[in-house]
Order: sequence, then C-alpha cells, then structure tokens
Amino acid sequence: MHKTNRPYQSIPLTSLWIGSVLLGLGTFVHPLAALATERQAHKFSGSAALGYTRRAVSFGERSSGSDAISQLRKWIISELNPLGGQLSLDSFTGETPAGPVPMTNLIYKFPGKSGKSVVITGHYDTKRIPMVHFVGANDAGSSTGFLLEFARVIQSMEHTDDIYLAFFDGEEAVAQWTDTDSRYGSRHLAGKWAEDGTLGKIRALINIDMIGDRDLDIANDENSSPRLKQMVAQIAAKLGDSKYFLETGGRIDDDHKPFVDAGVNAIDIIDLDYGAQNSYWHTAKDTMDKLSAHSLQMVGDIVTELVKELESGK
Ligand SMILES: [Zn+2]
Repeated sequence: MHKTNRPYQSIPLTSLWIGSVLLGLGTFVHPLAALATERQAHKFSGSAALGYTRRAVSFGERSSGSDAISQLRKWIISELNPLGGQLSLDSFTGETPAGPVPMTNLIYKFPGKSGKSVVITGHYDTKRIPMVHFVGANDAGSSTGFLLEFARVIQSMEHTDDIYLAFFDGEEAVAQWTDTDSRYGSRHLAGKWAEDGTLGKIRALINIDMIGDRDLDIANDENSSPRLKQMVAQIAAKLGDSKYFLETGGRIDDDHKPFVDAGVNAIDIIDLDYGAQNSYWHTAKDTMDKLSAHSLQMVGDIVTELVKELESGK
C-alpha cells in the first residue's frame, strides 16, 4: 500500500482490481490512499541543473545559426520530450548586421485550465566572439541548465495556469548591443504572442540569466516589475537568501524587456557581477569552474516558490 504513493497510471491493473474489491467490501480505507492521486513533487536540484549546464557547455561555442546550437537544440528537445508537455519550435530569421541568421526559440508548455499563464524564460545561445574560444558556462549555459531542471519541477507541480518554459535563441548581439541587434528571440516571441493573444493572459514572466556564478549577486533591475521584485525579496528573506540580492542594479536590458515594453508583469533574475569587475563576462574565463550547484539551487528554490505563489493567484 505504501508503494501506491505514485501516479495512478504506474499502478499495475491487478493492484487497482484488488484495491477496488477491498474498497467495495468497505473493509480497507488506508489513510495513505488519498495520497495515491498526488504526484511526488520534484524538488529543484542545483547539482542536476549544474549537470545539464555542463552538458550544454560541452557542445562548445553555441552562437545563433551554428551547427553546435542546432546540436544543442536537438539534445534539449530529447530531454524535454519525455516530460509530457507540449513543444513548439518558434523558428524565424534574425536580420542581423552580419546578414540573415536562422534562429529558433523552444517553447515548452504544461497546459492548465485557468486561462492564465506563468512564463519562465532564459536564453540558450552564446555570444560569438571572434578569436576567443567562448563556451559561455554562465552565459548561457546556466540558464539552459536551469530551465531543463525547472521543467522537471513544473512537470510534478500541481498547477491550474498554463506554465511555459521558453528557451530563447539570439539573445546576444551579433555586433554591438543595440535595440535591434540583441534579444532576437524574445522580441520575436513577444511580437508573436501579442498577435495571437497569449500575451494578455500572462500573470508573470520570470527571466533567468547568468545565475550560476558561485559568487552570486542578483542585481536589482529597475526595468523589472516592482511587485515581482517584492515577492522575490520576501521569498529570499524567508529562505535566508537575502544576502545574495544587491540593492542596486540600474536598468537592465535583457530578454524580459520586450515583454515589459508590451505591458507584461516581468522580472529579470540576473547576476551582472561575474568575476572582479565583471572580468569573466564574455571572455574565455566563463568556464564551468566559476559556477556552483549552490547558486543554481538558491535561484531554483526561489523561482519554485515564486511560481507557486503566482499560480495561486497572489
Ligand atoms: Zn551574454
């Protein structure tokens, strides 16, 4: 009977038959029977997220349009497929200063029935830096690994809202960061979702970027929703993690911004202080040894709590 603390579909038919007979006789109502319909919640694992990050980084330089990013995409899809959500590939052409580049956002949806949605996003492309072997462990290995582990959390979470995970392509500028040379994927999806009405159903969008740094300092981004920042601050305080959050941060342009501009309640959870004077950022120093499972764990725990609170309509 203790082993029935699993989804019904995994219980052999014979046990269901025996259970029905016993219940039919009115002789056996075990208190654990109620648990049989509950899924075992998967708690976010920082070490699993770090493992996914390492695997993503092993694909090498993963800039938009490269062979490596298309191999990475195939692997991400193979990891998502068994989780039972709905995958859509949002492919488009990024018009970059270097010419047209094929790009693909991966959108993974766990459907709910409230008519509302919560969206968790991050990018999986890395910046192409000529003459530098840039593997982007933190940028964007950590967001890739985070989303893959978070998909497992959502899969096992009771939810009434649609929950989307979006892996953005083309976050990085091809030449120099401007409003038109950056965030190709998020700008494309924000436009598409504005047209098809998805945008108006979003309760909140949470973007994750560069959160693997073992010396974690989350910026206080002035482009992020004050309400979401307050919720995050309260959760962090409750979990004893306030020390990882800075009071300052300025206005950060990241993949949340096209959604903020479209009126979506959105937050960017980002560490822009990577190495002394940010010296690891966009350099060959952005390697796995600079990351920690603990940092991913901390952010994973906070985002899990945040999604639960948003989901219950707080
Ligand atoms: Zn970057």
